[in-house]
Amino acid sequence: MFRSEYADVPPVDLPIHDAVLGHAARFADTPALVDGTDGTTLSYEQVDRFHRRVAAALAEAGVAKGDVLALHSPNTVFFPIAFYAATRAGASVTTVHPLATAEEFARQLADSAARWIITVSPLLETARRAARSAGGVREILVCDTAPGHRSLIDLLACTAPEPAVAVDPARDVAALPYSSGTTGTPKGVMLTHRQIATNLAQLESAITAGPGDRILAVLPFFHIYGLTALMNAPLRTGATVVVLPRFEVETFLAAIERHRITGLYVAPPIVLTLAKHPLVTTYDLSSLRYVVSAAAPLDARLAAACSERLGVPPIGQAYGMTELSPGTHVVPLDALHTAPPGTVGKLIAGTEMRIVALDDPDHDLGPGEAGEILIRGPQVMKGYLGRPDATAAMIDPDGWLHTGDVGYVDAEGWLFVVDRVKELIKYKGFQVAPAELEALLLAHPGIADAAVVGTRDDDGNEIPHAYVVRRPTAADLTAGEIMMHVAERVAPYKRVRRVTFIDAVPRAASGKILRRRLREHA
Ligand code: ATP
Ligand code: MG
Repeated sequence: MFRSEYADVPPVDLPIHDAVLGHAARFADTPALVDGTDGTTLSYEQVDRFHRRVAAALAEAGVAKGDVLALHSPNTVFFPIAFYAATRAGASVTTVHPLATAEEFARQLADSAARWIITVSPLLETARRAARSAGGVREILVCDTAPGHRSLIDLLACTAPEPAVAVDPARDVAALPYSSGTTGTPKGVMLTHRQIATNLAQLESAITAGPGDRILAVLPFFHIYGLTALMNAPLRTGATVVVLPRFEVETFLAAIERHRITGLYVAPPIVLTLAKHPLVTTYDLSSLRYVVSAAAPLDARLAAACSERLGVPPIGQAYGMTELSPGTHVVPLDALHTAPPGTVGKLIAGTEMRIVALDDPDHDLGPGEAGEILIRGPQVMKGYLGRPDATAAMIDPDGWLHTGDVGYVDAEGWLFVVDRVKELIKYKGFQVAPAELEALLLAHPGIADAAVVGTRDDDGNEIPHAYVVRRPTAADLTAGEIMMHVAERVAPYKRVRRVTFIDAVPRAASGKILRRRLREHA
């Protein structure tokens, strides 16, 4: 068993709104949230006051302890206010992908039994259709304005008393995010107030921002990575969060320059953009002090190309999953220069890990041996909503959560993630990790993006199949040249055996490759 090197942190037994905004008075006039496109700024004093007013109005409207409220919005400065107002009124917040179709949204509403929706006017029609088809929704509110719907802006004028809800941090669900659905249908993940609040304290042992730090929130708040790294963590420590509604390369680079961003939390596709996009050199990005990547495998060479180009310390990675509130490993900011390339970090405070053999979960492996990563700690989810079997399949009776990821630790305790157990391609009995081949493909100067999946050849054998996006300057790059490029660099069983050219790699909002889609395509 592997244990954290950090001293344990006591569980944070507070409702999430108090764990995050409990110190807001101390940061008073410091900007908490800035709209990265129009500059609208909310101070800590305003975020604190506004979320309390909205909580009072929601309580007056009937939102009560145990209710589920669906928050359906791209990143805006109102998102955190809606979130903390809802939890203060006693609700659990289920965050919804802003690009979800009405059908997908309806499924999440029905599965979570949500009774309230907070959306934005451009998404209102989808929300209405979802609510009609799911049933049970009492009111749809908007963050901005829309005829016939109450707006958070109106609710700020509410004079009702603040709700006094007795939240039980250890039992009550604060957030009900749905897992990304990379490997199957998304499942509702019940995270209690204590689990997410304690995870913030655990992460602070290795990474902490504070007043004067300016974080760019371009990854979505609705996903647990954004909710934690870009909303809860920086707002708990007095940093300033500059908010962008979506990733668009020029707006993103301009926001870093204009707002003198000091820290970025991104996923590998943005690291790829920063390493390769021609526009990057036309902006002043000198305010950046660190870049952290998480959510999907990041190749060490790509990471190095990015940090060298930006003139920042080596990119630090973090590792986690929705079911882990979400963090378990990070490269501490004070170890960016000393951590080995490619590592996702060390165990954060209060977290235990085992690495077990893929064919025998009772057989523990030591340093240098790759196996399934098991995690135990206060951040392990309460369970999947309404799916006791799926919960039991993931968390064993001793409290170990089976991540489904393959990894190994080195002698110093740095974790390396190889890939997901389910994504490993079995070529003639040998295991091939798509992430390794993708990294090699991305290193080719003519390749803009790539994804690898296992598909069947004519004899029914599983083979590594590469989907490749060519750079505009390499339109004549052939499948044969690509297969040669890989074959020169890997053991024979790992060779790419088929290549398909595509226009774009399908990805989730969190940056993960949607390999399912490619397999369906094949
Ligand atoms: P679903 O469980 O619904 O199929 P998902 O697993 O993609 O979707 P998330 O909880 O968003 O949903 O993602 C967690 C997963 O992301 C981890 O299990 C791991 O596979 C991957 N991951 C996270 N961080 C890293 C990292 N630094 N390197 C490699 N993989 C990572
Ligand atoms: Mg998962």
